[in-house]
Amino acid sequence: DLARLTEELRRMEGASYGRYKSLAGDWDFGHFVLTVERVQSDPFAPPSRIAVRIPGPVAGLPVHALHPAVRRRATADHLVRLAHRSLKGARLRIDSGGQEVIERSAGRIDDSGAMVLRLGIELPGRGRRIDARTAERELCDRLPAMVEAVRWSELDPGTATAFADTVEDTVALRDRLAGLGLVAFVADGAVLPRRSGVSDLPMDGAAVAFRAPDSLRVAVDLPHAGRVTGLGVPEGITLIVGGGFHGKSTLLHALERGVYDHIPGDGRELVATRPDAVKIRAEEGRRVERTDVSAFVRNLPTGADTTDFSTENASGSTSQAANIAEAFEAGARTLLVDEDTTATNLMIRDSRMQALVHGDREPLTPFIDLVRPLHRDHGVSTVLVMGGSGDYFDVADHVVMLDGYRPYDVTDRARELAAERRDAAFAPPAQRIVDPASVDPTARGRARLKRRDMDVLTFGETDIDVRALSQLVDPGQIIGVGLAMRLLAEDGLLDDRPLSEALDLLDRRLADGGAAALGRGYAGDYALPRRHEVAAALNRLRTLRVLG
Ligand code: ADP
Ligand code: MG
Repeated sequence: DLARLTEELRRMEGASYGRYKSLAGDWDFGHFVLTVERVQSDPFAPPSRIAVRIPGPVAGLPVHALHPAVRRRATADHLVRLAHRSLKGARLRIDSGGQEVIERSAGRIDDSGAMVLRLGIELPGRGRRIDARTAERELCDRLPAMVEAVRWSELDPGTATAFADTVEDTVALRDRLAGLGLVAFVADGAVLPRRSGVSDLPMDGAAVAFRAPDSLRVAVDLPHAGRVTGLGVPEGITLIVGGGFHGKSTLLHALERGVYDHIPGDGRELVATRPDAVKIRAEEGRRVERTDVSAFVRNLPTGADTTDFSTENASGSTSQAANIAEAFEAGARTLLVDEDTTATNLMIRDSRMQALVHGDREPLTPFIDLVRPLHRDHGVSTVLVMGGSGDYFDVADHVVMLDGYRPYDVTDRARELAAERRDAAFAPPAQRIVDPASVDPTARGRARLKRRDMDVLTFGETDIDVRALSQLVDPGQIIGVGLAMRLLAEDGLLDDRPLSEALDLLDRRLADGGAAALGRGYAGDYALPRRHEVAAALNRLRTLRVLG
């Protein structure tokens, strides 16, 4: 079919752009099959979509690249990155992700060891005429060259094996955390700071490598790296203190990302956080739909019932209260909190303020009064960055001080400074049932999912602001979230059951089918999201209705 495709393209030279449509379908190149899935109607439309299927014997992947499943996922990711590299300067595009290894639609290896790569291509035109010569170069030269680049016999097996080893180690490390009573682990030698606020690449040269304080150092045996040591962040309440610019937020950001696996050389390969960890922040202006925030908020001046709280425009403190309640509802059992992005009045209230504003005039129960009951009664751990107030000394199980990017265990010293404190009680927020009809992905008769940068998910006719979801790390995940919301609604997962159970069902689908379970004929690129971000996006959907 290579000859047939070449011939077909040559006949199209100079024809009107619409003739490209005739390329749709399968083209058997012998050692792989090209499927033209969707053809753009004009040169300015979103890129056309193609898939390449490389049979197992051609891909030539050895057993250790395919088993166990985590290695297969890692190998697929690595091959997508190799494909991306081989396409430098081409019009063919493959979504190869960033520093995290996240299952994505761009590359999948099936049980037989066959590899499917999905790409976009801007079919070339001169005005509205077909530029067939360029198209021929892309599809008949660059594409086969890309296929060559991902065959095991052609790639560097050492690098590919190390990639899978790295991911397998991270996953093993994360799996060990619960058994060790830890919520996170940061290996000695890890490089946490990034190159800049807009680059996720590791800081070079100047970075101070991580080194755990002796008293909190834990050793873990991993399948490939062997025995590694590092900071074990215990369950309970861990406070991170230190002067401004000493690396507190950088450490917390690394923990946020530790729910994902990282590529070799990232510096965070051996930073792992429990999968149920969710970053909590204030988010002024967000919508809230019937969330029970009564643990944190009571007796609002409006007289609103805070067990069933709705607003189109939350304040800093009520938004943060809703974020905590909803994260709990979605199954978060590790909270990551940074003073830089919290509402102070929801975090602390000192004695002078209590003396001045007391009783019913203060509707807020600060987090500090709930953080211990959250752990004691509900198994929710908290890692909190707080450099501006010592109040949390009273409730912290461990206090880690960062000094010149080095962590020190200052728990004993902080305890000497601590005072007695009476806790409030944390009642789990009431479970909510979502009206599936309010989660509608259609616009003008058909499903519409789009994203704008890392900021907005367009779901049907509604825009969802996802900027506050810092654990949404990959553009593809934003589409993945939209696809998951669609699945929840269309497959009846939301019907007659609490949202938390619907998310359990979603998790099961994703565990069985992986990213492919989300596809639903979506033509573009997407990556696998976590249940927590799916729930968070759902909660920010302005059309969401809760039943009951
Ligand atoms: P804090 O939250 O304590 O104010 P940040 O975490 O924001 O501090 O870090 C302040 C600056 O220090 C940032 O520019 C960050 O990139 C840099 N930084 C953080 N950790 C390290 C490190 N281990 N080595 C070198 N620079 C670091
Ligand atoms: Mg900070």
